[in-house]
Amino acid sequence: MCVFCKIVNNEIPSYKIYEDESFMAFFDISQATLGHTLVIPKKHFSDMLNSDDETNKQILEVVVKVTNKLKAKLHLDDFNVMTNIGKRAGQTVSHFHIHIIPRYDQDDFEINFKPNPLTSTEFLEMVNKVNK
Ligand code: 5GP
Ligand code: ZN
Repeated sequence: MCVFCKIVNNEIPSYKIYEDESFMAFFDISQATLGHTLVIPKKHFSDMLNSDDETNKQILEVVVKVTNKLKAKLHLDDFNVMTNIGKRAGQTVSHFHIHIIPRYDQDDFEINFKPNPLTSTEFLEMVNKVNK
């Protein structure tokens, strides 16, 4: 059983901040920034692309609810909301989860969209593949 399924089953303790029949939100053990939270479906799916449409639709509502709770209770305004799909994207737990990461004036969390030295040919080939 995966670590998040164990959290769902209360076999591993967690600091929960939201729970309903199908979803749960709890503080991430790593606290990338203070208040870093994970939202998960209780049912095990490896990631968003292997989840079902209903879960994917509903989880965004839960994410908004939980983000608003953090916003109100911790007086925060800025957040990154993200999900990692696959090892290369940094996924370490194979149970679909969405990170809510509060942002502060001075924090060391970084998402770096640095420009890549791609040729225009490479870029146009990729555009063609996607749109073909
Ligand atoms: P990923 O890297 O897969 O997107 O994110 C997995 C997250 O789960 C990591 O940020 C990690 O800190 C968190 N995590 C792993 N094990 C546990 C645990 O037992 N409890 C809690 N609360 N978070 C965990
Ligand atoms: Zn699981």
